[in-house]
Amino acid sequence: MATASLNPTPVSPAARLTDSHGRVIHDLRVSITDRCNYKCVYCRTGEVGAQYPELTIEEYLRLICLFVSLGVTKVRLTGGEPLLRRGLVELVQELARLRTLAGDPLDLALTTNGHLLDSLAGPLKAAGLDRVTVSMDAVDAPTFERITRVPGSFEKVLAGIRAARDAGLTPLKINCVLVRGFNDGQVEGFAHFARREDVVVRFIEFMPLEEGRLWSPEIVVPLKEIVSRIGRVLPLVELPPREASETARRYGFLDGAGEIGIIAPVTQAFCGACSRVRLTSDGKIRTCLFSQVEHDLYGRMREGETDNELRAYIFRTVQGKEARHHIGEPGFLKPSRSMVHIGG
Ligand code: SAM
Repeated sequence: MATASLNPTPVSPAARLTDSHGRVIHDLRVSITDRCNYKCVYCRTGEVGAQYPELTIEEYLRLICLFVSLGVTKVRLTGGEPLLRRGLVELVQELARLRTLAGDPLDLALTTNGHLLDSLAGPLKAAGLDRVTVSMDAVDAPTFERITRVPGSFEKVLAGIRAARDAGLTPLKINCVLVRGFNDGQVEGFAHFARREDVVVRFIEFMPLEEGRLWSPEIVVPLKEIVSRIGRVLPLVELPPREASETARRYGFLDGAGEIGIIAPVTQAFCGACSRVRLTSDGKIRTCLFSQVEHDLYGRMREGETDNELRAYIFRTVQGKEARHHIGEPGFLKPSRSMVHIGG
């Protein structure tokens, strides 16, 4: 596969990605399709399909190389549903050959609904993927399938999770978005699931990023409630963060077996430690999930800008990263794209 800059040209430390709030940006999330084979009720209306064009695998690779040459060390592929994207394994193979500015392999991860992971976990691991995060919003099949609106999805995802674990795509994280009235009854079941399946379950507070209009503060299941409910059945101890930009608050079970995490962007926002920037499936930079503007990196590439010009554009764009989101505040505006079209 031909790429413009497979080995990123080193740049001076001053050119590494930082924003005007002093945050170092080293974590890139790339959506490689906004198609999805699930219609999760809290995410999609069920009426809207893919909305944005996809780039070629070579184009994603060239854009990712630019970010790596500016200090990105961690790349997470996402979507839509990234396992639907043809050329994914080849993309992972190429990304695994990249080196960070320090000369290390990238930290390569992928977020998936797990539906196709059963057969893809092995090839992805062999291609050089380090870890996967599987989204799973219920531990019982009927509730799960009411959420995904796909019959048979629970068994498929469970098989995918086990295949990923067996392939060594670990530590295996399971992300569960809790939405009151849909799956808030699953909290305790997930705590047992984490221990039984030897996975880290992370609960995520629901954010106003859905295609429809479902979000309200009352529908969010807050961190405090999750911790106290699990603590009543399985006592928890808070664990120290592994790194400053870690999004999840970590908890271990008192007997030492298993771990859960809680990502609380609504009740305990972590914007001050944000190290992320996103690239949409059509090649736009988003500096925050809640950005009101997008930055057309791909458009510039298509017009023939050089790698150095594109790097300068990325640098300037990231400088303007928003200080924080404004969920729940008066005047809050939803972004123009919903989560499935941004890349979670
Ligand atoms: N299809 C892949 C998957 O299911 O993991 C990747 C894309 S999906 C949009 C990424 C993650 O975003 C999933 O864990 C999903 O549950 C989460 N998500 C979707 N809408 C959300 C919302 N409004 N608030 C919080 N998380 C959301």
